[in-house]
Order: sequence, then C-alpha cells, then structure tokens
Amino acid sequence: MAFALCLRAMPLINTVLQYFEPIAHALLLSGLAFFVLVEGRSPRISAPPDKWPRLQIHVGLYVLGAVTMALVFEPLNTQAMVWGAALGWSGIAGADWPTWAKIIAGVLAMDLLQYLLHVLSHYVPWWWRLHKIHHSDTFMDASTSIRHHPLETLVNAFVLVLLMAALQIPIYAIALYALLQQFHALFCHSNLNLPLGVDKYLRWIVVTPDMHAVHHSVRMDEGNSNFGMVFPWWDHIFRSYCAAPRVGRLGMRFGITELAATRQMHVLDLLGFPFWRVRPAVAKAPVVAVKPKRSKRRH
Ligand SMILES: [Zn+2]
Repeated sequence: MAFALCLRAMPLINTVLQYFEPIAHALLLSGLAFFVLVEGRSPRISAPPDKWPRLQIHVGLYVLGAVTMALVFEPLNTQAMVWGAALGWSGIAGADWPTWAKIIAGVLAMDLLQYLLHVLSHYVPWWWRLHKIHHSDTFMDASTSIRHHPLETLVNAFVLVLLMAALQIPIYAIALYALLQQFHALFCHSNLNLPLGVDKYLRWIVVTPDMHAVHHSVRMDEGNSNFGMVFPWWDHIFRSYCAAPRVGRLGMRFGITELAATRQMHVLDLLGFPFWRVRPAVAKAPVVAVKPKRSKRRH
C-alpha cells in the first residue's frame, strides 16, 4: 500500500526535486509569515519592542546564506557526490528494501547526522564561533530559526553532504527531510503558547518549543542540551536531554553571556562577530594598550 502510494507520488517528487530551491525558499518564507501571525495572536512571552528590526536582521542573514549557498555550494556538492560514489557501496539507496523503508531510514539518518553536527558545533571552538550567532538572540521566536551566519550554513551543508554521500541516503528522503526540518525549525523556535498538556506528549514525538527553549538558555550547562533537530529521541539515547530550565520557562533568559549586556546586533555586527578577538560584554570600555612613557630626557 505504502509502496504503491510512493510510486504514484513519484512524478510529484520529481517536480519538487527539479525546482527544490525555489520551493524550499517559498515554503520557508510562507511558514515564517504564518508563525509571525500566529505568535502575534497567542504568544508564550510578550514580544520585545525590537521584534520587527529583529525580523529584518534575520531575513537579511537568511538571504545572505541563500546567496552564499547559490554561489559556492553547487561545485562542493558535485565533488561530494563523486567522493561518495568512489566509496563503492550502495548504502541506503541501494539496499534491497521497499521504498517506504528507505524513506524512513533516510529521514532518521538525516536527523541523526543533524544531531551530531549540532553537538560538534557546540564543542568544536571554531564551529561554535559560527554557531553562536544563532544563540546570540536574546529572544526566541520563529525568526530565530533563520538567524545563522552564512559561513555556518555553508560549513554545515558541506559536512552534511559528505556524510549523506557516504551513507548514500536516497535523494527523495533528503528532500523530504529538508522540507520537514525547515518547517519544524520554525515551529520549535516559535513563541507559540502551546498548552503544557500538549507539549508534555508532543515532545515524545518531535522537539517542541519548550524543549528547544532550554537549548537557547544563557546558562551553557542548559544550552549544551537538547541538540535534537526534529526528533527528540537522540537526546534521550545520548543523554543530552534536559526537561526544563532551572528557573522555569517564563523566568529563563535567552542568549549568550558574551552579549548579555549589549545591544541588539545588526547584520554586519553579526557577520563579524565570529572574528571578534575580545568578548564584547567585557570590552564595553575600549581596551587601550598602555605604552611606557618615554623620558623626555635624551641620553
Ligand atoms: Zn545550538
């Protein structure tokens, strides 16, 4: 039954794959507009006064990320496919399984890879420098999901495509997961006032906004938990799950300590942030090198 449905859906899948980039961008921006509307009607926490400037900053970063990917990613993607093929095994795509099983295996493999990449982006110092742009948001709503440094978008995509090629994940599973993850990222960052009873059960199936909020805590012992992208199971399996922030969802603070005392940063600030040498919260007073005074007396 499921196999027959998959076969019948193939022309649709081929069309989606052919126009994947514009479809993905259109769905993301429509989804963002939808969540902005719904969050406005039923927010979990009152939105800050800079809600609209934040949205513009996040859309700006998204556009820069999309342009970077369009310019640089295609040759890297092609090369990764060549390396993947050179491994000489057929992976999930070539397994003697029904199509529906390959889709499930491919989607689960993608989510596990995303979980592992997310953990690495917290613990590998140079990777964290890029990823902390996402964590530097002092509020969390659906637009936070597109607050990424373009270099992080590129690095993650490149590493992911190498791993996908190594596992030979079927292209239709990759496309399905990409659309699912994109929509889910908007949901799990959203400021929706989801009833606690719904959250309690839903977080066994997908990562919910309350579960992901812990990951954006300014306390890094809480921030280094709940790395899951779409499914929460990896956090349970690898013991990185944290049910709630210590001070509760409504009392917690978002962001990173480096920026706790500073203003909202704009696109150019955020692009340069990974390369700053000094911690900006500490560097409020300009650091001036003190040169030893020269004696006016000449010897
Ligand atoms: Zn993170």
